[in-house]
Amino acid sequence: METTNGDKQVRHSQKKFFHRKKFCRFCTDSNLKIDYKYPSVLNNFVTERGKIMPRRITGNCAKHQRELATAIKRARAIAIMPFVSTENK
Ligand SMILES: [Zn+2]
Repeated sequence: METTNGDKQVRHSQKKFFHRKKFCRFCTDSNLKIDYKYPSVLNNFVTERGKIMPRRITGNCAKHQRELATAIKRARAIAIMPFVSTENK
């Protein structure tokens, strides 16, 4: 007969990191296409300064991250997206 209520050890091990999806968006959402013609999609994966976000932040898989980088570079090349600003010294 044990009535030890409310004496459990509750440990909160929640880390307050960036709470982004840990799964590749392109793998989970088949509607999302990696295409340099869709900067609105690509823009989700670059910083405000136009840099490509690292995989640990985006959560993309290696394959899609690579495709994404290629698409972004292509988009830059045809001036859909801005190059990284180098105005700040
Ligand atoms: Zn993927």
